[in-house]
Amino acid sequence: MPPAHLSNLLILHPSPSAVTPRALDAAQPFDGEARAAAARAAKAKLTVGIVGFGTFGQFLGARLAKAGHTVLATSRGDYSAAASALGVRYFRDADDFCEAHPDVVVLATSILSAASVLQALPLGRLKRSTLFVDVLSVKAFPRALLLSSLPPGFDILCTHPMFGPDSGAGSWAGLPLVYEKVRVGPGAARSARVAALLSFFEGEGCRLEEMTCQEHDRVAAGSQFLTHTVGRVLGSMGLAPTVADTAGYRSLLSLVDNTAHDSFDLYYGLFLYNPAAPAELERLGRAFEGVRAELFQRLHDRLRVAEGVAVEAGQAEQAARAGEAAAVAERLAGGGGGGGGRGGGGGNGAAAVDAKG
Ligand code: NAP
Repeated sequence: MPPAHLSNLLILHPSPSAVTPRALDAAQPFDGEARAAAARAAKAKLTVGIVGFGTFGQFLGARLAKAGHTVLATSRGDYSAAASALGVRYFRDADDFCEAHPDVVVLATSILSAASVLQALPLGRLKRSTLFVDVLSVKAFPRALLLSSLPPGFDILCTHPMFGPDSGAGSWAGLPLVYEKVRVGPGAARSARVAALLSFFEGEGCRLEEMTCQEHDRVAAGSQFLTHTVGRVLGSMGLAPTVADTAGYRSLLSLVDNTAHDSFDLYYGLFLYNPAAPAELERLGRAFEGVRAELFQRLHDRLRVAEGVAVEAGQAEQAARAGEAAAVAERLAGGGGGGGGRGGGGGNGAAAVDAKG
């Protein structure tokens, strides 16, 4: 029997004989049942405990509480007042937090502190079948951490809501939630609990994207890490709105705004704990250098042409002067070159130079 608080959840995995359609039309009632079960899961209420009640922990906790889930939280700092304003029960003491026995524990601490926070959590005080969920912005790292640190009876769901308090300030409609069901023990209640949590995000309008943690990191390095890097670089340039902003410039300002509020720890975590990030940074650096090099190459080509014209003009002038000097020397020496001598010299300065040489 599932625990009382899960009794209204769906049974996601009935026995294979119950779901294998024998004919095409036999699939119809099952589709209806699945839809009804999914609707029941969406209504299921969970007790969710959040570890790390900073920017993202509060952002998520507020939505969970609003959706009718019971939300508990604990963190290094004291967030009692903020929690109470959001309808969240705050625990200063991690032992008390665990002894409140949340169905789901969400690890929402910084990437850099995740290992030490997890190590300090009195896991033995939690229920033996707790579902552990992380929301870290990198995925292969917490996957390995949770698998190696949690008791084998715990379920593990790795997620990355690809939005935050800025991009998800209003509706979450269409915003992606990437997830991997890393470990879900046997029994319908465990699957139902995972389904209920995912249904919360779905109910908020999120687009659920199931992929491996490794695949997430590869994709996120080329999108999220790149976005944060460009946002930070532009942010450090102190861009400001002008009276003549183009639409493109406005989107740059909004990119800066979207990334500037995240902690540097978060950004550093994206770099340090995503194995694909350093290569992406290199690629960005090379691309920037490539564009810069092309600009300067063209500028140099233009200067070289101008320089070439100037050199030619200078040589002609020099030759003319040399021709003139030769004519004067000839006159002084008593030669009768006169105007003709000069004309000859001026008409072919180079020849005059050669003659002198
Ligand atoms: P963050 O700087 O990544 O993390 C802040 C949280 O980490 C706070 O709860 C803080 O606790 C805790 N923390 C930091 N250092 C700690 C330490 N040495 N020991 C114990 N706790 C420590 O900012 P965040 O935006 O709130 O992100 C939280 C998590 O959500 C991160 O893993 C991030 O990757 C993920 N995430 C964030 C976003 C976003 O848009 N912000 C989106 C998706 C996922 P105290 O406040 O109590 O000190």
